[in-house]
Amino acid sequence: MLAMNFRGPFRVRADRDRPFPEIEHPEDAIVKVIRSCICGSDLHLYHGLVPDTRVGSTFGHEFIGEIVEVGSSVEKVKVGDRVMVPFNIACGKCAFCKQELYGQCHEANPQSTAAGGIFGYSHTAGGYNGGQAEYVRVPYADVGPTVIPDWMDPDDAVLLTDVVPTGYQAAEMGGIQEGDTVVVFGAGPIGIMAAKSAWLFGAGRVIVIDQLDYRLEFVKEFAQCEVYNFKHLEDPVVFIKKITDSLGADVCIDAVGCEAAGDTMNTMLGRKLLMQGGSTTALHWAINSVKKGGIVSIVGVYGPIDALVPIGNVVNKGITIRASQASVKRLLPKMIEHVKNGIIDPKAMITHRIPLEEVGEGYHIFSKKLDNCIKTVLIPPS
Ligand code: NAD
Ligand code: ZN
Repeated sequence: MLAMNFRGPFRVRADRDRPFPEIEHPEDAIVKVIRSCICGSDLHLYHGLVPDTRVGSTFGHEFIGEIVEVGSSVEKVKVGDRVMVPFNIACGKCAFCKQELYGQCHEANPQSTAAGGIFGYSHTAGGYNGGQAEYVRVPYADVGPTVIPDWMDPDDAVLLTDVVPTGYQAAEMGGIQEGDTVVVFGAGPIGIMAAKSAWLFGAGRVIVIDQLDYRLEFVKEFAQCEVYNFKHLEDPVVFIKKITDSLGADVCIDAVGCEAAGDTMNTMLGRKLLMQGGSTTALHWAINSVKKGGIVSIVGVYGPIDALVPIGNVVNKGITIRASQASVKRLLPKMIEHVKNGIIDPKAMITHRIPLEEVGEGYHIFSKKLDNCIKTVLIPPS
């Protein structure tokens, strides 16, 4: 079958001779992919920032598709169902899943006490192949996959597998109180959804910081927020203090992660940052511009787990830090309601539709933020 094939940092391509996935366990299903996306998280893999990302892997943790085969013990979904599949692989039964920490499932990645299972996200996340392919094996098919309602646009459905709930959880973890000032670092799809979601929790002011004017223009309109380009600010931390009565923001959200833009990784500086654990600029800004006693919510992904953090300021300011891979299954019912009621319109973020055959070009465009790219959808051959 046709599938994305990782050949090493900055080298991905589509190959036609990739093996078809098979049922390996009675709880598995095989899904024929209808749409998949490229995510900012895939860029960390693409940039070589995530340990144990093996050549020959297929990425892709955001996908929807049609079930074409089920294992003998699968009961809740059947062949022919069109499903959205949360990016977390979760057993639904372990101690973490029982607390709805589906991003931290133990059974899906028993080798690790640090990470749960994720489709197409290196061997640190269980070594599963992902959905940037014609077909994908979906473990625990009775747990994650959720039938797409008839009324729902497939473009919205695919964004419910990660982007929408992740942005929402970023705002939720911020513990936003009525009237709070919330600063979101990053105007990618995750930051855009975090800004939009901040209002739903009662924010009084939402500010988004990025370096790309076209994304800032988009989020300004989409989430009705204030936007600033950090390239035009002498120091974003000083600036945020200035516009918050010298106190700092109530809540800061890191929706950037480790060198998400990726465009310095093939430079000397980029390599130096990588050796130090990757760039943590946005996280520094978030910690340093939140008020004393404030909350920093991190959904940005840090592949190198020992990345540098200004921990002294965290202690002195009495900051609360909350961070997680999003728990998609927990949030999915509410996110479906929000789409149905028109509170969010996720598909507005899709700027690029690229045939799966041209996946290499898709990564290049999204990584370099060419052609005003916000979100890229990959279309497998029908
Ligand atoms: P993206 O690459 O599309 O967007 C990142 C944005 O950050 C870019 O617009 C870039 O210009 C901006 N940026 C770079 N450095 C910055 C800085 N110092 N300050 C402010 N903005 C800066 O990525 P995305 O798809 O929006 O994902 C964002 C992050 O969220 C990534 O780290 C991704 O891995 C992570 N993520 C986490 C989860 C989760 O469950 N926790 C899920 C999905 C994605
Ligand atoms: Zn993602």
